[in-house]
Amino acid sequence: VRTIGILGGGQLGRMLSVAASRLGLRCHIYEPGAAPAGDVAWRITNAPYEDQDALRVFADSVDVITYEFENVPTSALDLLERVRLIRPDRRALAVSQDRLTEKTFLNDIGLTTAPFADVPTQADLPAAIAAIGRPSILKTRRLGYDGKGQVRVGDGPVEWTGAPSVLEGFVDFSAEISVIIARNADGQVAAFDPGLNLHQGGILRTTTVPCGLPGKVTTDAVLIAARIANALDYTGVMGVELFVTPGGLIVNEIAPRVHNSGHWTQAGCAVDQFEQHIRAVAGLPLGDGKRYADVVMENLIGDDVDRVPELLKSADTQVHLYGKGAPRPGRKMGHVNRITG
Ligand code: ATP
Ligand code: MG
Ligand code: MG
Repeated sequence: VRTIGILGGGQLGRMLSVAASRLGLRCHIYEPGAAPAGDVAWRITNAPYEDQDALRVFADSVDVITYEFENVPTSALDLLERVRLIRPDRRALAVSQDRLTEKTFLNDIGLTTAPFADVPTQADLPAAIAAIGRPSILKTRRLGYDGKGQVRVGDGPVEWTGAPSVLEGFVDFSAEISVIIARNADGQVAAFDPGLNLHQGGILRTTTVPCGLPGKVTTDAVLIAARIANALDYTGVMGVELFVTPGGLIVNEIAPRVHNSGHWTQAGCAVDQFEQHIRAVAGLPLGDGKRYADVVMENLIGDDVDRVPELLKSADTQVHLYGKGAPRPGRKMGHVNRITG
């Protein structure tokens, strides 16, 4: 493998390109929207996913295709798959693109999720609420991220999401953690230490390692992530979000890609999640995931970037900026990894 194709040119694609270049590989990014990653990738195609000619040229120019987000249209994937291997494969995408498919898959392999009900239309909502109860959360089956497409179901009337949804029972968790796990085509698996995640307004604010939870919990979390990766015969890095409850771990969702809650690995590990993903999709041996430092990762959201001049003066802090334009509220502009021990 010499050239890796990446679908999506956001910050994750950008950081994957940097990791690939360190290994002497180059990346061709395909991004339909604005193209912030273009400045670090070997090549960038700025065309819609409906442009079959552009897709074909892209696929022909690379040795393997991966992605930094999971909502690539099926028609584009069908075309690309005929030309090149896509890693992680279509099944991993199908399972994680749709919350109903995802939760059903997780239950089928013996893992616990929040109780849920299918809500194809608004007319199905009363029956779903009767089954799941209140409080609960209505989430669109597809395309949600950073808490978008979600409606809290409390005591009052319920707003409709506008799209086919699932209703999830509200989980009274004591903590949120995530496991970033890598698996290569030989079945070699390496997990990073679970991180403790704090969200604000549905957006990840900080991830802290070590997460401070007992070894039994962190071991269970890693075993759950490994079970998911094996069940999918997965190739690449995957993020698994979990709720910690007195009754055990509940899987919230999986992301078939590098994950925001894994950014701390850039400061904590010899091989970070981005290099690990590149290694996996390029068919190289994986790093072992061992953590060498305590780290707090903080996202720089919107105006947080105003703090960058100050943050750059801190000797124990790694600053990552995504080269995006003007800050907007809720927009992830960068992150910092502070080494705390
Ligand atoms: P991401 O950006 O992580 O992909 P998302 O839009 O897919 O986010 P979720 O991860 O499903 O959304 O939910 C966002 C946050 O809302 C969770 O991290 C958690 O804090 C809270 N949350 C989601 N589902 C539940 C639930 N069933 N019970 C309690 N809290 C929940
Ligand atoms: Mg999500
Ligand atoms: Mg989430």
